[in-house]
Amino acid sequence: MKEIILIKNGELALKGLNRNSFEDKLIKNMKIRLADLGKFTFTKSQSTIMIDSEDEDIDLDDAADRLSKVFGIAALSRACVCEKDFDCIKTAAVSYLEEQLEDARTFKVEAKRSDKKFPMKSPEICREAGGYILSKFHHLKVDVHNPDIIVTIEVREQYAFIHGNRIKGAGGMPTGTSGRAAVLISGGIDSPVAAYMMAKRGIELCAVHFASPPYTSELAEMKVMELLKRVAKYSGTITTYVVPFTKIQEQIRNLCPEEYFTIIMRRIMMIVSEKIAQGQNCSALITGESVGQVASQTIYALACTDCVVNMPVFRPCIGMDKEEIISISRKIDTFETSIQPYEDCCTVFTPRHPKTRPHLDDVVRAQSKIEDLDQLIDEAVKNAKKVIIK
Ligand code: ATP
Ligand code: MG
Repeated sequence: MKEIILIKNGELALKGLNRNSFEDKLIKNMKIRLADLGKFTFTKSQSTIMIDSEDEDIDLDDAADRLSKVFGIAALSRACVCEKDFDCIKTAAVSYLEEQLEDARTFKVEAKRSDKKFPMKSPEICREAGGYILSKFHHLKVDVHNPDIIVTIEVREQYAFIHGNRIKGAGGMPTGTSGRAAVLISGGIDSPVAAYMMAKRGIELCAVHFASPPYTSELAEMKVMELLKRVAKYSGTITTYVVPFTKIQEQIRNLCPEEYFTIIMRRIMMIVSEKIAQGQNCSALITGESVGQVASQTIYALACTDCVVNMPVFRPCIGMDKEEIISISRKIDTFETSIQPYEDCCTVFTPRHPKTRPHLDDVVRAQSKIEDLDQLIDEAVKNAKKVIIK
């Protein structure tokens, strides 16, 4: 039995004139995501995109799993394709959905008839197919309000499609339809979640990670790459820069008052990231900060980090509790990697008593102790290592 995948767009339907270009972008993103699985054809029809493969042995489980992580898709279904003949349709429904109908207690049939020349109208298709299914599965009952399985029969121009329950899509907007932004990625729980949340709004991601060897290990860097790989299953390719940060951190430690170590480090991270972001055609920065989580994330400290850059800084976790952030990190499968205990550069040289209400003047004065800072920043940007994460 021939099987295809049907894609229902998410917010795309709302976008009026932009809709076509959004759909084209979505199709492009899906093509990239399926490229190494085999050859697929994509056909747009009303608010559905049909994905078909001529190759018999294609792994549709894998394809559906990958597509469930592509932003811009509200729902997807695997469907069987059959002749537009009611006898074929009803027998195909029973054999294609046999396992799911066995497992269900209740069901209903929904019919959509876009081919108005088909001799049966939708209510009649539902009634007849429902009756046939009941005659084959004696344990089943009809429940039109809250059925375990909805059997959908779509009679289209060339063929009929039959599918069971839809798989929930990743939602959001197709990656790349909202511009580009650079995420400051640590090995923690929050920044991968922040990256995922902004990518969900259609933003294409770059990433910047600061590494301070030998204070931070190679394993810490590998952990960050692993996190990005997991985010990339949703966002698509992430061009990543690993910035050598040791010299700058040592200078902060040697020259600045201890209570300002973290805030100055955070400011310099923002400056370096903005420079890299500009070179990558990005229009914004993203961090995983959340108000009050640590001393550098009070609103006073955030004000001192914000003002060093001109780009807007998006902090999608800003109003979330740790528990809420963790629940998203579990959903996107980054949590287990995030909790591996490797030191981040943020946790080396941490002050014993960080200022939670820093005054900008004091911070600027403390930072000015590093006389050759501009040069160190340029060096860090120049020596950043580029890695493409797919
Ligand atoms: P996370 O779980 O994301 O590490 P956190 O609560 O541990 O967050 P901090 O360590 O203070 O917070 O970092 C705040 C934000 O600064 C991070 O969310 C991230 O965006 C950025 N950041 C921290 N460390 C690094 C790093 N080594 N490289 C790049 N960005 C970083
Ligand atoms: Mg961190």
